Amino acid sequence: MEKTYIEKMKSALLGMKNEILQHLAAENAEFNEIIEDTDPKDLADIASDDIDRRILEALGNQELKTLKLVENALVRIENGHYGKCMRCDQKIPRERLDAIPYAILCIKCKTSEELRNR
Ligand SMILES: [Zn+2]
Repeated sequence: MEKTYIEKMKSALLGMKNEILQHLAAENAEFNEIIEDTDPKDLADIASDDIDRRILEALGNQELKTLKLVENALVRIENGHYGKCMRCDQKIPRERLDAIPYAILCIKCKTSEELRNR
């Protein structure tokens, strides 16, 4: 996968992460205190591990899930695994990544996981 595409996805992911964190700050005074002293451009460097567990629990489940997925994808960009399925190691189609930049499973694995969790 070419570098320019990865870079594009990376900035999309960082943008998503930023958006989630900003939204959380708006909803949650405690969280706002944590990031208050943080330069907005460093916001994306805040790992969810740094965020207090209680605050995480107060967050919307869906948002938290997305934040984790976004972070996962960013880690995979760093270690060069981005764009490959986490489970079967097959390439994830670009259309899927365009639609869901934080996709870490191919459609087949994702579908079987959803069936399993049902
Ligand atoms: Zn797969």
